[in-house]
Parts: sequence; structure tokens; C-alpha cells
Amino acid sequence: MAVAQQKRTESNPWRTAQHQFDEAADILKLDPGLRKILREVQREFTCHFPVQMDDKTVRNFTGFRIQHNINRGPAKGGLRFHPNVSLDEVKALAMWMTWKCAVVNIPYGGAKGGVIVDPYSLSANELEHLTRRFATEISILVGPDRDIPAPDVGTNAQIMAWFMDTISMHHGYSMTATVTGKPVEVGGSLGRADATGRGVMICTVAALETMGLKPFNQRVVVQGFGNVGSVSARLLEEAGCQVVAVSEDYGGIYNPLGLSVKKLIEYRAREGTLKGFPGAELVPNEDLLKIECDILVPAALENQITSHNAAEIKAKLIVEGANGPTTPEADEILRNRGVILVPDILANAGGVTVSYFEWVQDLQSFFWSEHEINARMEAIMTRSFKEVLAIRDEQRVDLRMAAYLLAVKRVAVATADRGIYP
Ligand code: NAD
Repeated sequence: MAVAQQKRTESNPWRTAQHQFDEAADILKLDPGLRKILREVQREFTCHFPVQMDDKTVRNFTGFRIQHNINRGPAKGGLRFHPNVSLDEVKALAMWMTWKCAVVNIPYGGAKGGVIVDPYSLSANELEHLTRRFATEISILVGPDRDIPAPDVGTNAQIMAWFMDTISMHHGYSMTATVTGKPVEVGGSLGRADATGRGVMICTVAALETMGLKPFNQRVVVQGFGNVGSVSARLLEEAGCQVVAVSEDYGGIYNPLGLSVKKLIEYRAREGTLKGFPGAELVPNEDLLKIECDILVPAALENQITSHNAAEIKAKLIVEGANGPTTPEADEILRNRGVILVPDILANAGGVTVSYFEWVQDLQSFFWSEHEINARMEAIMTRSFKEVLAIRDEQRVDLRMAAYLLAVKRVAVATADRGIYP
């Protein structure tokens, strides 16, 4: 295969998702009928919708909402606003959500949504109009009992508030349980903003323990310094690790002696960039993953660790904060090199776990303390990690396959129990 074509094939997230599922289905000897059902998404919705910009011109945007499987409960999954969003990407992200909810055993199916847009190029007014119109377009699918969106790349608590308000306006009353990741003032949950990064930290510490290591002075590189990356970095530092490099889409910064994450977060908020942070050198994106370190946390986008760079990664532990950052080709290289990898569907499941708590709190209009939320989330993450570890040791597979075996089996059983309608 020509290199360009191989790169294109390797970097298609839907192909990655189906490949991962196929491998698990083979090991589980999954019934052929169930295999056909679970290998495809159940619903894929595409819309094209207009937004009037501040200068009165009209732009037409394309958005998607995909539901992969809803046999274990209502669909759940984030909304992504990014220029590279595609149908295949959203399908993959929806399938990963199904497995993620099943790994941590919360009663949801998997979904995902996205709009092809650079949200940072819009004014606040334009972003609000885009969000409200997209919410209206997908309102035929969403709702507290049907499909509950949440933040993902390029979306945040404010966008979730606009989304919830739009659906509420359609119904004439407040429907706070329509989305999660909202501001605390309008039904959001304490602990949600930190939840995904907290789960990454919990999985990192648990994985280090299996390697006979402690967090103290472990050197960490974090790719992506958004919600997941910055919180993971901060909590890993608090756990005793030393963060030596972080990056964003334009490049990264590096100091082999360690960066102060607290100061970095303040600097990033003040300056709008990581560039120019005192005492750190700039690193191009392609070099960041190859930096000398003990732990690598990819927390940006898919297809970052591929057959082209996996052999050069120095970390002995990779914890996937992002969804789908590693291709199957890279997985094989890392496995052969003895690198331990905690897969996305386990490592970043802290976010959807606290989203589940937010939904439960909204439905009951009864709110829990942050301490209670963090303790319950830690209990779920720790239990899930142990369950995955036990399958790894029993089946002699890697952690990704162990997590898939656990998840696919749970979803397959639910799908078979419900039967095929009609
Ligand atoms: P975000 O929009 O808050 O941040 C994304 C970050 O990645 C930004 O700092 C951006 O500059 C950076 N980035 C983009 N391309 C990059 C590149 N090529 N190299 C380096 N950095 C790059 O998004 P987020 O919510 O932090 O999501 C990050 C990842 O985590 C995504 O894969 C998302 O699906 C996954 N995830 C998010 C949540 C959540 O609760 N937000 C939960 C589970 C998984």
C-alpha cells in the first residue's frame, strides 16, 4: 500500500473502532447476528443548518448526532465543535461511548455529536446562535430519557447551558437533565469539570501500582492542555508526578526539570497560549510524544500515536485521556515493546461517570457534596480498573482488549436479552 494511502486508512477513526470491536468479537466468539448489530451504529443523523453571522451574512453548517447502541439505557455522549469533525469520526466516538459506559457499568448506551466549525473563530453571539439552532435540529433525538449530550472538544459548560435552555424553551419548562456538564448554577454537578482528568489520575496511579511504582517524581508528558489535559496534569502533579511537557494544537513547551502546572494554568488563562512560559523551551508537535518521560497522557484528539511514531515513544506507561489517540498498528508496536497502555474507554470514563451523577441529581432535584461525588467516582473507577486487570491476567491480553472484552460482553448480553424487534 502506498504510504499516503496507508496513512489515510490508519487515521480513519471508524476503521479503528470497528477493528478494535472485531478483535474483541473474535476472542468472545460473538454470535454472528450480534456481531452484525454491534459493528454498526443504530442511528446516524446529519443536518445542514443556517446561522446568521454578526455581519448579517448567512453561513450553512453541517452537524451530526449518532447513536450507536441504546440497549443498556439512554444514549450518552459529548458534542464536538471542530473544523475536522466528520461522520466517520462521530460514528467512532459514539461506538467508543457505548463501550465506555459498559466498562464502568453505568446504565447508558453510546452516542456522540459534532458540528464542523472552528468555535474559536466565532463571536459569543454567533456561537450561541449556532448552538441553539443545532440543539433544535437534533431535538428530535435528545431528551433526558432518550439521549443526553455533554461537552467534548470545542464545547464547554456555557454551550451546555444554551443547549439545555433551548430544549427547555421548546417544552415550556426547565429540563435540566437534558444535558450534563452544565454550570453548577443551572443543575450542573460539583466535580464534573475535573472528572475526566481525575479519572485519568486515578487510572495512572492504579497502573503504576501494578508496575510496582509510585507517582513520586514520575516524569509526565501531556498532549493537549484543554479540559482533560490541564486537569490531568494538575492532579498528576498533586499526586507527586513531575510534568515535564504539555502541548496544544500549535506546539508544546518542555522543561526536563519540571513545569509548575498551577502557574501554567494561570499563564494559559491570562495569555491565551502556552508560548512564552518562563523557563520552558518550545517543542514542535511531532517531537512532543518522543520526549524522554515515564508517563504519556495523550489528551487531544484521535490518531496521535501511529505506526509512524510508536517505536520512538519513550514512556513506559500511556494513559489515554483522549478518545482514540492510538491506532491499532501503533497498539501492536507498543504491546511488543512492553509499554503498558490504559485505554480510553477506561482511562477517561471518569467524565461520563460524573455526568451520570449529574443526570441522577437533576432527575431527583437532590444535589450531592463534591466529596461524595469524588468518592463515588473513585470507587467506580477503581472497581472498573480491577475488573479490567483481572480479565487481562486471566485472558493474557493487553488492557485495551481486556476492557473491550468486559464492555462488549455486557452490551452483547443486554442486546441479546432484549431480542430483535419486532
Ligand atoms: P478541549 O477542547 O478542552 O481541549 C482540547 C485540547 O487539545 C486543546 O488544548 C487543543 O489545543 C489541543 N489540541 C488539539 N489538537 C492538538 C494536537 N494535534 N496536538 C496537541 N494538542 C492539540 O477538549 P477536551 O474536552 O479536553 O477533550 C480532549 C480529548 O478528551 C478528546 O479526545 C475528547 O473526546 C476526550 N474526552 C473528553 C471528555 C470531557 O469530559 N471533556 C471526556 C472523555 C474524553
